[in-house]
Amino acid sequence: MLAFTYSFVLVLAITVLTQQWLGRRQIAHVLSHRSAVPAAFADTISLEAHQKAADYSVAKSRLNLNENFMHATLLLALTVGGGLQWIDQSLLAVLPEQTLLRGVLVIITALAISSLLDLPFDYYKNFVIDERFGFNKMTPAMFFQDLLKHALVGLIMGLPLLLAALWLMRGAGDLWWLWLWCVWAVFNLLVLAIYPTFIAPLFNKFSPLADEPLKARIEALLAKCGFKSQGLFVMDGSRRSSHGNAYFTGFGANKRVVFFDTLLERLNPDEIEAVLAHELGHFKRRHVIKRIVMMFAVSFAGLALLGWLVDQDWFFHGLGVTTPSNHMALLLFLLVSPTLMFLLRPLFAAYSRANEFEADEYAATHSSARHLIEALVKLYRDNASTLTPDPIHSAFYDSHPPASLRVARLQLLAG
Ligand SMILES: [Zn+2]
Repeated sequence: MLAFTYSFVLVLAITVLTQQWLGRRQIAHVLSHRSAVPAAFADTISLEAHQKAADYSVAKSRLNLNENFMHATLLLALTVGGGLQWIDQSLLAVLPEQTLLRGVLVIITALAISSLLDLPFDYYKNFVIDERFGFNKMTPAMFFQDLLKHALVGLIMGLPLLLAALWLMRGAGDLWWLWLWCVWAVFNLLVLAIYPTFIAPLFNKFSPLADEPLKARIEALLAKCGFKSQGLFVMDGSRRSSHGNAYFTGFGANKRVVFFDTLLERLNPDEIEAVLAHELGHFKRRHVIKRIVMMFAVSFAGLALLGWLVDQDWFFHGLGVTTPSNHMALLLFLLVSPTLMFLLRPLFAAYSRANEFEADEYAATHSSARHLIEALVKLYRDNASTLTPDPIHSAFYDSHPPASLRVARLQLLAG
């Protein structure tokens, strides 16, 4: 039991030290390259834009370091510090008979505490950092309105899943975790299917793309690549932030192409086509399906593990819970597994970066590598993304390859 506590604290300490080390490396690396634009971008990015990107990256990294530290402290306080045990016992005193309801309330309380502690960091990111660099377009009223909407959507979707989980754990026998995995998988596919039409519109306005010449051009590209979509939409991303993006959303026949209005404003039609071709590459190279399969495989392994852990006394006692129960097993698992997954992050990030190169290659073949380079440079500049990340930090965290590698690869493809 004590051995498990020590192992948990040790892994947590390694995680926190790694995060601090990576963050400090990133800050030092970005600052040491602040005084000059990298040669490959000397013609396209001004020193002023380069320095803005450096300062923005450093400010975000500093905030991240503090947030990581807070998460680790909270996790310690909730587990070995006895926080979860205290919440559980407090609710037991009020609702001694209602096992299922109590379980749900304990889990929601713990998750709500964790979200509340994240709140000041989100607020600071939007209203101090993004504000200072000219990216924030939100008012505090919108921020809190979003928060409320997210909480409600989370509750409406999460509550039935949580009830199903606790109900299966109680009554579905030894293989409850397998049944729960099936429920979870169906639930996820359902959310993917209804997200574009029912959930995303709660937060943003989507209007059909009105620019006829651009529309014709994009439809020609979609036809050439054999892609069927349910329409081209423009999202009012500028309501919240001036960062630009484009993405595909939906699943099966319900696919949509979504452009942020901020992207359409800044890129010319050649560049927009190239960005879209990159996104199409993700679909055509089956990255989206592979990602879903991977997510299902990881959750299968996770639930199988939980199916075993729920019967191990040391799991509960080692993490500060002296009265084992199904809901405490589920809660411990939800809180602890993201921390343990952190050390696996370089694997997932490397896989994602390989996919990005494949999508770039697809764009180079079906659209134009040169236009994609132009678009990327504009996006790096306008989003103030650093061109000089620390290589180890990047290997750990970045889902996209560093600008220099990506552009160099595209230049080769452009010939
Ligand atoms: Zn991509």
